[in-house]
Amino acid sequence: MDNYINVNKKGILMYQTIDNKVVDNVTYYTKGRAWVEINLKHLKCNIKSLKSLLPNNCEIIAVIKANAYSIGDITFSKVLNENGINNFAVATVVEAINLRKHDIKGEILIFGYTHPFDFDLLIDFDLTQTVIDYEYAKLLDSYGKQIKVHIKIDTGMHRLGELSSNLLDIERIYQCNNLIIQGSYTHLCVSNSLDPSDIAYTQLQINNFYHVINHLKSYGYNPGKLHIQSSYGILNYPTNQCDAVRCGILLHGVFSKENETTKLKISLNPILSIKARIVIIKSILKGDPVGYNRNFVSTDTMRISVISIGYADGIPRNLSNGHVIVNGVKAPIIGDICMDQIIIDITHIHNVKIGDIVTLLGQDGNEIITAEEIAAKCNTITNELIACLGDRLEHIYLDE
Ligand SMILES: *Cc1c(COP(=O)(O)O)cnc(C)c1O
Repeated sequence: MDNYINVNKKGILMYQTIDNKVVDNVTYYTKGRAWVEINLKHLKCNIKSLKSLLPNNCEIIAVIKANAYSIGDITFSKVLNENGINNFAVATVVEAINLRKHDIKGEILIFGYTHPFDFDLLIDFDLTQTVIDYEYAKLLDSYGKQIKVHIKIDTGMHRLGELSSNLLDIERIYQCNNLIIQGSYTHLCVSNSLDPSDIAYTQLQINNFYHVINHLKSYGYNPGKLHIQSSYGILNYPTNQCDAVRCGILLHGVFSKENETTKLKISLNPILSIKARIVIIKSILKGDPVGYNRNFVSTDTMRISVISIGYADGIPRNLSNGHVIVNGVKAPIIGDICMDQIIIDITHIHNVKIGDIVTLLGQDGNEIITAEEIAAKCNTITNELIACLGDRLEHIYLDE
């Protein structure tokens, strides 16, 4: 599958197309409107930092669900493969098949529910399904063919997993003849917090998990490889040594929230920048409104500009009090963010021209806007901000 067009333009190594959106190999200027730049060298640094925190025999399961949090699961997994990571996790069977179709080797674990109509796909594409509870184990077992699985135990998050208190049902899962049990895991719900009551809850979850595992082992069941921690579990519960960890957001070189303290420190390099262009410049008078709902009204004469990106590209509409960087200077966003466009104040910035590049996330000169900062302004976490970036953004992968 040829998924790359070399465009050979300054600094651009390759352009990853989204399947079925390329028309007859038409190449166009890939930084024409709005794009993300993804620094693969930084991704490699993050992999190295992560490995340095883990015991030698601990595997990394790279979590690349939702198109690697929108960044590009194929490119991501190829870089990970080249850097010694051979275990992947996604949310859905369709995401998993997409990886196999692009020749990604190794274990691909599906975290979420797969409908029985799709059980044949699990086998055809050599995928590993999460057993979300005993009811689901019975369904998988009754399919009548051997299916690779990890068993999920609900130790206190009360999302997917068989309740850790249902030891009898859990045992019955491990008795299913058609399940090839390759792993067992649980998910922590407050491992990001160092609040004493949250630490106590997390410790309770970990204890619940090992209680189940020890029970199973004492009855001769083999739970396969064990994994508990995701990004914050790795940083805050380093003494919990499992066979594997599931890592998503840290690979992107960012934390979920701004100014979070963690037990272990990690050196991270953000991989993502978001850019667009100045498409129009105009002057307005004192008292002139700007944008939908007239939510901004000028208090003086102003020079304003429209940039070619909007909420359909994943810029949250409630970032309307944020700013961007133009020619190394911060420029406030004014008015409501529109679907395809944003209006900014450039009164104080000289030499702005049509076509200039605007940085919404990342660095330009001495100014920097971080994902954590934007997420905080929008009352969310970087995971959501990044994962919800729009398909319409072009993906420019840099490896320098
Ligand atoms: C998404 C997800 C992860 C990855 O979480 P990060 O905080 O991004 O590392 C790990 N485990 C499960 C079950 C998930 O759903």
